[in-house]
Amino acid sequence: ETLDKGLEKSKSSFFGKLSKAVAGKSKVDDEVLDNLEEVLVSSDVGVKTTIRIIDRIEARVAKDKYLGTDELDQILREEIAGLLSETEDQTNFNLPDKKPYVIMVVGVNGVGKTTTIGKLAHQFKSQGKSVVLGAADTFRAAAIDQLQIWADRVEVPIVKQKMGSDPASVAFDTLQSGVNKGADVVIIDTAGRLHNKINLMNELTKIKRVMQKVVPDAPHEVLLVLDGSTGQNAFEQAKQFTAATEVSSLAVTKLDGTAKGGVVIGISDQFKIPVKYIGVGEGIDDLQVFNKFEFVDSFFK
Ligand code: GDP
Repeated sequence: ETLDKGLEKSKSSFFGKLSKAVAGKSKVDDEVLDNLEEVLVSSDVGVKTTIRIIDRIEARVAKDKYLGTDELDQILREEIAGLLSETEDQTNFNLPDKKPYVIMVVGVNGVGKTTTIGKLAHQFKSQGKSVVLGAADTFRAAAIDQLQIWADRVEVPIVKQKMGSDPASVAFDTLQSGVNKGADVVIIDTAGRLHNKINLMNELTKIKRVMQKVVPDAPHEVLLVLDGSTGQNAFEQAKQFTAATEVSSLAVTKLDGTAKGGVVIGISDQFKIPVKYIGVGEGIDDLQVFNKFEFVDSFFK
């Protein structure tokens, strides 16, 4: 229900284009497949994933000899659901049994990283979990201030130092504070400057190494935040961050105000990293646990 609301634009746009692609046609032929290819690419599914989907439908046409356009909707749903990876527990904001469970959050500025951290802290806290935030994006004063605002709003403690201090040192302090408080979850914000890949890699590696002095198997999760409305940029960022560090899950934001929910499909397929959360607004409750069937339903309605 809420996902439908969140994906209002994505679905009308994709469904509208899909309907146009098969208009006046009863049979899936080369022209329909060409149109479909265009619809998928223009919906930000990405070229590689689009080709994969088209190839699979082509193979079905070849095998069955005849495929009606009335079946296309269902077949596409199945194909897309098959491409979406998922984490195992996707029904709520459950966390694995680690104390503290350490989440390192990565992503470039402006994608909604701070907002996602705030929303997550709120969800965990609502479940009675204790949360500590770490402001290890020390590159911009605004990043520290923004995280502080969310910490105040959600009423969770935050560990920070002054702008320009060593991010690894902030991460170390945060984990130590988390351990001392007996916190259930520690969420570390990091700076995402992509213009210098070596620096990014070195910085993230160092943060991890230093965190492991406090919690040997930290971070338990590296969450990459991507802006779902940025199409190819989101693909490029996924490529760069997965090259710089081991990303274990994705949060795709801004799926409320965009016609481009297709990014979720392409990125999930190409990087084989589960989409764990989706952002559907600016409010504190506008974060959802990703569910592929709900997603596909909304995409197609
Ligand atoms: P950061 O620089 O990556 O930390 O980005 P912020 O968390 O500061 O978010 C940048 C802007 O995007 C802010 O205006 C947020 O309110 C907005 N934003 C974040 N997530 C969402 C979302 O899911 N939907 C919408 N519509 N806006 C979002």
